[in-house]
Amino acid sequence: MSGNSDNKKDALKSEAFGQATTAIRSGYQRTHEAEHSEALFLTSSYIFDSAEMAAKYFSNEVQGNVYSRYSNPTVRAFEERLAAMEGGEQAVATSSGMAATLSVVMALLQSGDHIVCSRDVFGSTRVMLNNYIVKFGVEVSYVALTDLDAWQQAIQPNTKMLFCETPSNPMSEVADLEALSALAKSSGALLVVDNCFCTPVLQKPLDWGADIVVHSATKYLDGQGRCLGGAVVGRSELMEKLVGFLRAAGPTMSPFNAWVFLKGLETLRIRMQAHSANAAQLAAWLSAHPKVTKVFYAGLESHPGHSLAKKQQSDFGGVVSFCVNGGREQAWKVIDSTRMLSLTANLGDTKTTIVHPATTTHGRLSDAEREQAGIGENLIRVAVGLEDIDDIKNDLQLGLDLI
Ligand SMILES: *Cc1c(COP(=O)(O)O)cnc(C)c1O
Repeated sequence: MSGNSDNKKDALKSEAFGQATTAIRSGYQRTHEAEHSEALFLTSSYIFDSAEMAAKYFSNEVQGNVYSRYSNPTVRAFEERLAAMEGGEQAVATSSGMAATLSVVMALLQSGDHIVCSRDVFGSTRVMLNNYIVKFGVEVSYVALTDLDAWQQAIQPNTKMLFCETPSNPMSEVADLEALSALAKSSGALLVVDNCFCTPVLQKPLDWGADIVVHSATKYLDGQGRCLGGAVVGRSELMEKLVGFLRAAGPTMSPFNAWVFLKGLETLRIRMQAHSANAAQLAAWLSAHPKVTKVFYAGLESHPGHSLAKKQQSDFGGVVSFCVNGGREQAWKVIDSTRMLSLTANLGDTKTTIVHPATTTHGRLSDAEREQAGIGENLIRVAVGLEDIDDIKNDLQLGLDLI
């Protein structure tokens, strides 16, 4: 597609780039307009020079754009850039994070197959598996994320997929990705990792042997709470099966959202470093606070997942959870006393968000399930944003002074 732009520069091989450069320079071919910033192709379809060419495009004799449910240049640029960042052969963009997980299951599993899934996955992942995927004859078992024996024991002859999310939400538990990928390989199953909390900046599951990474781009990849989207990254042999499903079923990413995420990737590294730095300071401050009884953040040396997180992550991310002295009343008081923090279940935003997991994000769990997961009534989750850390602390202090 490049015409009057500098072909030599366009042809630079992204494999040679460092992580920051990859996020900024890879995955885009300039058009003949020689634009500097990546172009947004808001078009649902594409035209052909002749009836004969149309026939060739439709029969796949010639590869090219036919219809944006099949392919779109802006979506493809996002996919290529994210694949390069995760170190995967190919990425496939989807309309949301849940559409990414749905596509993995629909494209790669069939009736009679079995999934082993970590217990503390994102709520909608559990609802989707339990209420819908099982209707098609796929079995699901849940195990504790950090209990390797439990993963091993849950494997059945028909186990085709291990699915985990690390670090977990909201307790920041850490899965051993190297051990889980060894287990997946020895049992002929695929290891799928939801890498939403870390992003490729902090953790690259494919490097530890995982087969597939799924993302909710809605969170840190955008980073400013504007768009819904998702993505799947892995070997082309697997991703081509997802492409087939997406083309037929349609949960594809909108070109506009792809453009927002594409630009989001360019600043992802410095944002993740800043989220992590703010979160580390908040976790340390909370740990020393007289009204706080426990802090869950894998960056704290006292956290059981600390050494594993240190091994497989380059930093600890932006999500910090903590227990206040008391129960629901005290936790709600702290949340309701904030003036700046946003009371919302979303995360991965420049704006710090605060939520009471037991009655919102994890409210659908039974009391027993919540207790098993360690999510008490006095637990608060903060997804630390990029404001001044003193302003975040001062806002939490308002309620902590009252309990
Ligand atoms: C938000 C989220 C999802 C779902 O993503 P959507 O874009 O909301 O569909 C999946 N996994 C994790 C860990 C999430 O935080």
